[in-house]
Amino acid sequence: MNNLEVVCPTCKKKFSYYSSSFRPFCTHQCRLLDLGQWLSESYAVPQVKLTEEEQLTLEQITNEKSSQHEES
Ligand SMILES: [Zn+2]
Repeated sequence: MNNLEVVCPTCKKKFSYYSSSFRPFCTHQCRLLDLGQWLSESYAVPQVKLTEEEQLTLEQITNEKSSQHEES
């Protein structure tokens, strides 16, 4: 039986590798978050195509992240 447990690089949560469509990330959001971190470090245009929905989610995530940064 395939039940490989891996740790999501973004949220560090364990998840079943084969249950995720977004591996190596556990969720779509974690995948986008990782991309968001990458984007915030370099303002280069990503070499991937994002759907409109993904861009909106990414904006939400990066907004959340920047407000967290202000607090700490
Ligand atoms: Zn995750």
